[in-house]
Amino acid sequence: MSLSKPDVQNIGSLFVYSDEMSRFDFGPDHPFKAERAHKTYELCMRYGLMDHPWMKILKPEPIETALLTLFHEPEYIYSLEEASKGNISIETLKRGLGTEDNPILPGIYEWSLLAAGGTYEALGHLMNGDVLVAFNPLGGFHHGMPGHAEGFCYVNDISIALMGAIERLPEQRIVYLDIDAHHGNGVQEAFYKDSRVLVISVHETGKTLYPWSGYKTEIGEGEGIGFTVNFPLEPGSDDEVFNFALDEAVFPLIKAFSPHMIVALVGADTLISDPLTHLKLTNNSYQRALREMTTLCPRILALGGGGYDLYRTARCWTLAWSVLNNLEPTDEFAGLVGGMMFGPEQEVGSLYDYPYLTQGETKDKAMAEAKRTAAYIRKEVFPFHGL
Ligand SMILES: [Zn+2]
Repeated sequence: MSLSKPDVQNIGSLFVYSDEMSRFDFGPDHPFKAERAHKTYELCMRYGLMDHPWMKILKPEPIETALLTLFHEPEYIYSLEEASKGNISIETLKRGLGTEDNPILPGIYEWSLLAAGGTYEALGHLMNGDVLVAFNPLGGFHHGMPGHAEGFCYVNDISIALMGAIERLPEQRIVYLDIDAHHGNGVQEAFYKDSRVLVISVHETGKTLYPWSGYKTEIGEGEGIGFTVNFPLEPGSDDEVFNFALDEAVFPLIKAFSPHMIVALVGADTLISDPLTHLKLTNNSYQRALREMTTLCPRILALGGGGYDLYRTARCWTLAWSVLNNLEPTDEFAGLVGGMMFGPEQEVGSLYDYPYLTQGETKDKAMAEAKRTAAYIRKEVFPFHGL
């Protein structure tokens, strides 16, 4: 006899969204566009993916400031709050504020509180069983550090929410799976010596991309050894390499860990068109990864993270939302106009990318390195999980 899987369409789903938040402007020269959330919302509406009876929209409220210190140093939070009001001191730059990546924007403190509030509350609803899946496209600030801002991240909503979750339910097994193109260094920092969360990051290698970390040899310390997993990918890695990494190393670990919940960072900056990274994925492997995640553990909080090609990010996240809700996007709703609005070239009327595979030496090198990495993880990390 088999138990039936929990069903999102019976239990419910949550889309974290507010118009005001998606209007926040990082400035014309900054790659981070909060507008991506609005574009995603709009595209989901066009595809008929937002108006089902089991779906709810959660308008984020600011996180309680006392919760920020679950991860951040109080002195950093003070500096951020002051900088956001325009009060600059010698501390400000020391805290990573006022750089090209993390400019001092009026109201950035309040905006960050909303982003973190959305993630925190969504995770709470998941833990209470109110919903089976949730998606916060304006969450996922995985580079935020305890004492400083970096990589467009001011407040690390993920580390805070995860810390809160394990404090509340210590017996709960949680996987953090980060498939953003950048290494999830801030979340790794939170749980490096801790076995309570299995932290997995698949990303472009630190040899060629910020934050220059996330090597395969980083597997945790002390109590946490074997509970941090890094799968760096060579520049030019495509869908085949990405699928290989997931199938050979990541999914077997998640299966063995048997989590109650997955917190997934689903950044879309791995896509071939992304202006900041050198990976060459299409949204076909991206949606496959999401689909597989829901099979391994149906209770999922997905967070946006990166994605700097506005339209393709919106398409990717629309696919993510449809997979999480066990729906297939239907092009007939979107029509020609919808397709043209959300992709300038080939993808008129369809959310899916044309297949693409890297060729030649670049591909051979990427696959050979992925094989070495998978072998390393299978040898060094699998034994901690009975594999
Ligand atoms: Zn990223």
